[in-house]
Amino acid sequence: MTPAPARKMASGDALAAGLPIVRRTDDLRAAVAPWRQAGHRVGLVPTMGALHDGHMALVRQAKADCERVVVSLFLNPKQFDAAADLARYPRDLAADSAMLAAAGVDLLFAPETSEMYPNDFATTVSVAGLTDCLCAKTRPGHMTGVATVVTKLLLQAQPDIAYFGEKDYQQLLVVRRLVRDLCVPVRIAAVPVVRAADGLALSSRNVFLTPKQQQQAPALYHVLRTVAGRLLAGGDTATELAWARTALLSAGFDKVDYVELRHGNTLAPQAHTEPQARLFAAAWLGQVRLIDNVPVC
Ligand code: AMP
Repeated sequence: MTPAPARKMASGDALAAGLPIVRRTDDLRAAVAPWRQAGHRVGLVPTMGALHDGHMALVRQAKADCERVVVSLFLNPKQFDAAADLARYPRDLAADSAMLAAAGVDLLFAPETSEMYPNDFATTVSVAGLTDCLCAKTRPGHMTGVATVVTKLLLQAQPDIAYFGEKDYQQLLVVRRLVRDLCVPVRIAAVPVVRAADGLALSSRNVFLTPKQQQQAPALYHVLRTVAGRLLAGGDTATELAWARTALLSAGFDKVDYVELRHGNTLAPQAHTEPQARLFAAAWLGQVRLIDNVPVC
Protein backbone atom coordinates (compact mmCIF):
# COMPACT_ATOMS: atom_id res chain seq x y z
CA MET A 1 0.00 0.00 0.00
CA THR A 2 1.24 3.51 -0.79
CA PRO A 3 1.19 6.06 2.00
CA ALA A 4 -1.14 9.02 1.58
CA PRO A 5 0.33 11.08 -1.32
CA ALA A 6 -0.37 14.40 0.38
CA ARG A 7 1.75 13.42 3.36
CA LYS A 8 4.47 11.99 1.19
CA MET A 9 4.72 15.05 -1.01
CA ALA A 10 4.58 17.26 2.04
CA SER A 11 8.01 16.00 3.08
CA GLY A 12 9.31 16.35 -0.47
CA ASP A 13 9.73 12.63 -1.06
CA ALA A 14 9.55 10.73 -4.30
CA LEU A 15 9.26 7.12 -5.30
CA ALA A 16 12.51 5.26 -5.91
CA ALA A 17 12.22 2.06 -7.92
CA GLY A 18 8.55 1.89 -6.96
CA LEU A 19 9.30 1.99 -3.26
CA PRO A 20 7.61 4.72 -1.20
CA ILE A 21 10.15 6.67 0.86
CA VAL A 22 9.36 8.87 3.83
CA ARG A 23 11.87 11.01 5.67
CA ARG A 24 9.89 12.42 8.55
CA THR A 25 8.45 10.74 11.62
CA ASP A 26 4.99 12.24 10.98
CA ASP A 27 4.92 10.78 7.48
CA LEU A 28 6.10 7.40 8.72
CA ARG A 29 3.33 7.32 11.30
CA ALA A 30 0.73 8.51 8.76
CA ALA A 31 1.68 5.57 6.54
CA VAL A 32 1.78 2.97 9.30
CA ALA A 33 -1.36 4.00 11.22
CA PRO A 34 -3.90 2.76 8.65
CA TRP A 35 -2.08 -0.56 8.42
CA ARG A 36 -2.33 -1.03 12.14
CA GLN A 37 -5.97 0.05 12.12
CA ALA A 38 -6.62 -2.60 9.46
CA GLY A 39 -5.15 -5.18 11.84
CA HIS A 40 -2.00 -5.74 9.81
CA ARG A 41 1.17 -6.75 11.59
CA VAL A 42 3.97 -4.29 10.91
CA GLY A 43 7.58 -5.45 10.80
CA LEU A 44 10.53 -3.07 11.05
CA VAL A 45 14.03 -3.84 9.76
CA PRO A 46 16.52 -1.20 10.95
CA THR A 47 19.58 -0.82 8.71
CA MET A 48 22.36 1.61 7.88
CA GLY A 49 22.09 0.90 4.16
CA ALA A 50 24.67 -0.55 1.75
CA LEU A 51 22.36 -3.53 1.76
CA HIS A 52 23.43 -7.11 1.11
CA ASP A 53 21.87 -10.52 1.50
CA GLY A 54 22.34 -10.43 5.29
CA HIS A 55 19.99 -7.46 5.46
CA MET A 56 17.66 -9.11 2.96
CA ALA A 57 17.39 -12.20 5.18
CA LEU A 58 15.88 -9.92 7.82
CA VAL A 59 13.53 -8.48 5.21
CA ARG A 60 12.51 -11.96 4.05
CA GLN A 61 11.78 -13.01 7.62
CA ALA A 62 9.76 -9.83 8.18
CA LYS A 63 7.81 -10.47 4.97
CA ALA A 64 7.06 -14.02 6.13
CA ASP A 65 5.79 -12.84 9.53
CA CYS A 66 4.09 -9.53 8.81
CA GLU A 67 1.54 -8.11 6.39
CA ARG A 68 3.50 -4.85 6.19
CA VAL A 69 7.26 -4.33 6.23
CA VAL A 70 9.06 -1.06 6.87
CA VAL A 71 12.83 -0.82 6.41
CA SER A 72 14.70 2.06 7.99
CA LEU A 73 17.91 3.33 6.48
CA PHE A 74 19.83 5.69 8.69
CA LEU A 75 23.59 5.99 8.90
CA ASN A 76 23.63 6.68 12.61
CA PRO A 77 26.54 9.00 13.47
CA LYS A 78 26.17 8.24 17.18
CA GLN A 79 27.28 4.64 16.75
CA PHE A 80 30.51 5.46 14.92
CA ASP A 81 33.46 5.83 17.26
CA ALA A 82 35.73 7.01 14.43
CA ALA A 83 34.81 9.92 12.14
CA ALA A 84 36.79 8.40 9.28
CA ASP A 85 34.76 5.19 9.50
CA LEU A 86 31.52 7.17 9.17
CA ALA A 87 32.89 9.29 6.32
CA ARG A 88 33.81 6.33 4.17
CA TYR A 89 30.89 4.03 5.09
CA PRO A 90 29.36 2.84 1.78
CA ARG A 91 26.18 4.61 0.65
CA ASP A 92 23.98 3.63 -2.29
CA LEU A 93 20.35 4.64 -1.85
CA ALA A 94 19.47 3.79 -5.47
CA ALA A 95 20.73 0.21 -5.21
CA ASP A 96 19.26 -0.20 -1.73
CA SER A 97 15.81 1.00 -2.73
CA ALA A 98 15.85 -1.22 -5.84
CA MET A 99 16.61 -4.28 -3.67
CA LEU A 100 13.90 -3.36 -1.19
CA ALA A 101 11.34 -2.74 -3.92
CA ALA A 102 12.14 -6.11 -5.51
CA ALA A 103 11.69 -7.77 -2.12
CA GLY A 104 8.22 -6.26 -1.76
CA VAL A 105 9.00 -3.90 1.11
CA ASP A 106 6.09 -1.55 1.74
CA LEU A 107 7.94 1.55 2.92
CA LEU A 108 11.45 2.91 3.34
CA PHE A 109 12.05 5.29 6.22
CA ALA A 110 15.20 7.26 5.41
CA PRO A 111 15.39 10.20 7.81
CA GLU A 112 17.94 12.99 7.62
CA THR A 113 20.28 13.31 10.60
CA SER A 114 18.45 16.51 11.60
CA GLU A 115 15.18 14.56 11.86
CA MET A 116 16.76 12.00 14.17
CA TYR A 117 19.00 14.38 16.13
CA PRO A 118 17.81 17.97 16.17
CA ASN A 119 20.37 20.44 17.51
CA ASP A 120 19.02 20.26 21.04
CA PHE A 121 18.76 16.45 21.13
CA ALA A 122 19.70 15.56 24.70
CA THR A 123 18.65 11.98 25.44
CA THR A 124 20.84 8.90 25.57
CA VAL A 125 19.78 5.30 26.10
CA SER A 126 22.48 3.33 27.85
CA VAL A 127 22.19 -0.35 28.75
CA ALA A 128 24.50 -1.14 31.66
CA GLY A 129 26.35 -4.44 31.99
CA LEU A 130 25.85 -5.64 28.44
CA THR A 131 27.75 -2.59 27.22
CA ASP A 132 30.96 -2.90 29.20
CA CYS A 133 32.49 -5.71 27.16
CA LEU A 134 33.28 -6.93 23.63
CA CYS A 135 32.52 -4.23 21.00
CA ALA A 136 31.36 -1.76 23.65
CA LYS A 137 34.80 -1.88 25.25
CA THR A 138 36.77 -1.55 22.03
CA ARG A 139 34.40 0.99 20.41
CA PRO A 140 33.56 3.61 23.07
CA GLY A 141 30.05 5.04 22.70
CA HIS A 142 29.10 2.55 20.00
CA MET A 143 26.52 0.50 21.92
CA THR A 144 24.97 3.57 23.52
CA GLY A 145 24.62 5.07 20.05
CA VAL A 146 22.95 1.85 18.88
CA ALA A 147 20.62 1.71 21.90
CA THR A 148 19.63 5.35 21.45
CA VAL A 149 18.85 5.13 17.75
CA VAL A 150 17.05 1.79 17.99
CA THR A 151 14.87 3.10 20.82
CA LYS A 152 14.00 6.10 18.67
CA LEU A 153 13.29 4.01 15.56
CA LEU A 154 11.03 1.68 17.55
CA LEU A 155 9.08 4.64 18.90
CA GLN A 156 8.89 6.30 15.50
CA ALA A 157 7.66 3.25 13.57
CA GLN A 158 5.87 1.44 16.42
CA PRO A 159 6.21 -1.97 14.74
CA ASP A 160 4.79 -5.22 16.08
CA ILE A 161 8.07 -7.03 15.39
CA ALA A 162 11.56 -5.63 14.80
CA TYR A 163 14.28 -7.74 13.16
CA PHE A 164 17.96 -7.89 14.10
CA GLY A 165 20.79 -10.10 12.86
CA GLU A 166 22.80 -12.44 15.07
CA LYS A 167 25.86 -11.17 13.23
CA ASP A 168 25.74 -8.20 15.62
CA TYR A 169 24.97 -10.46 18.54
CA GLN A 170 25.82 -8.00 21.32
CA GLN A 171 23.64 -5.38 19.64
CA LEU A 172 20.78 -7.91 19.53
CA LEU A 173 21.09 -8.52 23.29
CA VAL A 174 21.28 -4.79 24.02
CA VAL A 175 18.10 -4.21 22.03
CA ARG A 176 16.30 -7.09 23.74
CA ARG A 177 17.28 -5.70 27.13
CA LEU A 178 16.23 -2.10 26.47
CA VAL A 179 12.91 -3.29 25.07
CA ARG A 180 12.31 -5.36 28.18
CA ASP A 181 13.53 -2.71 30.63
CA LEU A 182 11.59 0.17 29.05
CA CYS A 183 8.47 -1.92 28.25
CA VAL A 184 8.64 -1.00 24.58
CA PRO A 185 5.67 -2.82 23.00
CA VAL A 186 7.51 -4.74 20.30
CA ARG A 187 8.77 -8.27 19.76
CA ILE A 188 12.43 -8.57 18.84
CA ALA A 189 13.14 -11.30 16.30
CA ALA A 190 16.67 -12.64 15.74
CA VAL A 191 17.88 -13.80 12.32
CA PRO A 192 20.91 -16.15 11.97
CA VAL A 193 24.15 -14.90 10.44
CA VAL A 194 24.17 -14.97 6.63
CA ARG A 195 27.57 -16.00 5.27
CA ALA A 196 29.33 -16.17 1.94
CA ALA A 197 30.12 -19.66 0.64
CA ASP A 198 33.61 -19.38 2.17
CA GLY A 199 32.15 -18.72 5.64
CA LEU A 200 32.72 -14.97 5.83
CA ALA A 201 29.80 -13.19 7.50
CA LEU A 202 28.29 -10.72 5.03
CA SER A 203 28.89 -7.11 6.05
CA SER A 204 28.59 -3.71 4.41
CA ARG A 205 32.26 -3.09 5.23
CA ASN A 206 33.43 -6.18 3.30
CA VAL A 207 33.58 -4.01 0.15
CA PHE A 208 36.71 -2.44 1.61
CA LEU A 209 38.60 -5.74 1.66
CA THR A 210 41.34 -6.08 -0.93
CA PRO A 211 41.40 -9.30 -2.98
CA LYS A 212 44.11 -10.62 -0.65
CA GLN A 213 42.15 -9.69 2.45
CA GLN A 214 39.07 -11.36 0.99
CA GLN A 215 41.07 -14.59 0.96
CA GLN A 216 42.17 -14.06 4.57
CA ALA A 217 38.87 -12.86 6.06
CA PRO A 218 37.03 -16.23 6.22
CA ALA A 219 39.68 -17.40 8.73
CA LEU A 220 37.77 -15.46 11.39
CA TYR A 221 34.83 -17.83 11.12
CA HIS A 222 36.93 -20.95 10.63
CA VAL A 223 39.10 -20.22 13.67
CA LEU A 224 35.98 -19.72 15.79
CA ARG A 225 34.50 -22.97 14.49
CA THR A 226 37.74 -24.81 15.25
CA VAL A 227 37.86 -23.44 18.78
CA ALA A 228 34.19 -24.27 19.33
CA GLY A 229 34.87 -27.86 18.32
CA ARG A 230 37.92 -28.14 20.56
CA LEU A 231 36.06 -26.67 23.55
CA LEU A 232 33.26 -29.15 23.05
CA ALA A 233 35.85 -31.91 22.95
CA GLY A 234 37.09 -30.80 26.38
CA GLY A 235 39.76 -28.27 25.41
CA ASP A 236 40.94 -25.74 27.98
CA THR A 237 39.26 -22.37 27.42
CA ALA A 238 42.26 -20.11 28.10
CA THR A 239 44.52 -22.27 25.92
CA GLU A 240 42.06 -22.32 23.04
CA LEU A 241 41.35 -18.57 23.16
CA ALA A 242 45.10 -17.88 23.12
CA TRP A 243 45.47 -20.26 20.17
CA ALA A 244 42.68 -18.43 18.33
CA ARG A 245 44.51 -15.10 18.64
CA THR A 246 47.70 -16.62 17.30
CA ALA A 247 45.83 -18.39 14.50
CA LEU A 248 44.14 -15.15 13.40
CA LEU A 249 47.45 -13.28 13.32
CA SER A 250 49.02 -16.16 11.37
CA ALA A 251 46.12 -16.03 8.92
CA GLY A 252 46.99 -12.42 8.13
CA PHE A 253 44.89 -10.41 10.56
CA ASP A 254 46.76 -7.31 11.72
CA LYS A 255 45.18 -6.93 15.14
CA VAL A 256 42.78 -8.90 17.32
CA ASP A 257 40.43 -6.78 19.45
CA TYR A 258 39.03 -9.78 21.30
CA VAL A 259 38.35 -13.49 21.18
CA GLU A 260 36.17 -14.43 24.12
CA LEU A 261 33.84 -17.11 25.41
CA ARG A 262 30.71 -15.61 26.92
CA HIS A 263 27.18 -16.57 27.87
CA GLY A 264 24.83 -16.16 24.91
CA ASN A 265 22.14 -14.36 26.94
CA THR A 266 24.02 -12.39 29.58
CA LEU A 267 27.48 -12.01 27.99
CA ALA A 268 28.98 -13.10 31.31
CA PRO A 269 32.50 -14.47 30.73
CA GLN A 270 32.61 -18.27 30.65
CA ALA A 271 35.66 -20.05 31.98
CA HIS A 272 34.25 -23.38 30.85
CA THR A 273 31.97 -24.45 28.07
CA GLU A 274 28.46 -24.40 29.43
CA PRO A 275 25.06 -24.49 27.74
CA GLN A 276 24.48 -21.18 25.90
CA ALA A 277 28.22 -20.50 25.63
CA ARG A 278 29.16 -18.48 22.58
CA LEU A 279 32.46 -17.45 21.03
CA PHE A 280 32.86 -13.81 20.01
CA ALA A 281 35.68 -12.24 18.02
CA ALA A 282 36.65 -8.93 16.46
CA ALA A 283 39.80 -8.50 14.40
CA TRP A 284 41.30 -6.13 11.88
CA LEU A 285 42.47 -6.71 8.33
CA GLY A 286 44.19 -3.43 7.54
CA GLN A 287 41.59 -0.70 8.10
CA VAL A 288 38.65 -3.14 8.10
CA ARG A 289 37.32 -4.42 11.41
CA LEU A 290 35.46 -7.72 11.17
CA ILE A 291 33.28 -9.29 13.86
CA ASP A 292 31.81 -12.76 14.13
CA ASN A 293 30.34 -15.13 16.67
CA VAL A 294 29.42 -18.81 16.84
CA PRO A 295 27.53 -20.90 19.37
CA VAL A 296 29.51 -23.59 21.19
CA CYS A 297 27.11 -26.47 20.90
P1 AMP B 1 23.67 -2.65 9.63
O1 AMP B 1 23.15 -2.05 8.37
O2 AMP B 1 25.07 -3.14 9.54
O3 AMP B 1 23.39 -1.79 10.84
O4 AMP B 1 22.80 -3.96 9.88
C1 AMP B 1 21.40 -3.90 9.94
C2 AMP B 1 20.89 -5.22 10.45
O5 AMP B 1 21.26 -6.27 9.56
C3 AMP B 1 21.45 -5.60 11.83
O6 AMP B 1 20.42 -6.18 12.62
C4 AMP B 1 22.51 -6.60 11.49
O7 AMP B 1 22.77 -7.53 12.53
C5 AMP B 1 21.87 -7.29 10.30
N1 AMP B 1 22.90 -7.97 9.51
C6 AMP B 1 23.97 -7.39 8.90
N2 AMP B 1 24.74 -8.33 8.31
C7 AMP B 1 24.14 -9.52 8.57
C8 AMP B 1 24.45 -10.87 8.24
N3 AMP B 1 25.54 -11.21 7.53
N4 AMP B 1 23.61 -11.85 8.67
C9 AMP B 1 22.51 -11.53 9.40
N5 AMP B 1 22.17 -10.27 9.74
C10 AMP B 1 22.97 -9.29 9.33
